[in-house]
Amino acid sequence: MTSEQAVNNRVSVSPSRMKLTGDGSEGVFLGTRCKECELHILGDSMFCPRCTSAEHEPVELSSSGKLYSYTVIHVPPPGWKGQVPFVLGAVKLPEGPHVTSEVINADPQTIEIDSPMTMVLQPGDTDEDGREIMVYKWEAAKA
Ligand SMILES: [Zn+2]
Repeated sequence: MTSEQAVNNRVSVSPSRMKLTGDGSEGVFLGTRCKECELHILGDSMFCPRCTSAEHEPVELSSSGKLYSYTVIHVPPPGWKGQVPFVLGAVKLPEGPHVTSEVINADPQTIEIDSPMTMVLQPGDTDEDGREIMVYKWEAAKA
């Protein structure tokens, strides 16, 4: 994993899925578009999961979408340093892929399916080189 690019001593949590932009506090989702059937997927893939074509090209995906599904996590995964309980949401991008991450500043009592969501980055851990690992989260889009 030495190909990842650091921006301002920050790195993406998943360089094949999200690239840092600007001063490294913002990012854009990376995906793959199938040239045969137009399916968009998040990240990289050797073959299209729908039509198995290997003819595809890298694309940038939208940084916002609509909440497709969510669950409230009361027992976090090992190493979780965020607050508990938290909302884990799957957001459907306009291009089609679902992106699952924590929904921050969300009230599990009032969160609604189909609400507009926008991607925000938060610093997580630091890597072995002392760089901040930027993690993508969802947050309700400001009206
Ligand atoms: Zn395809």
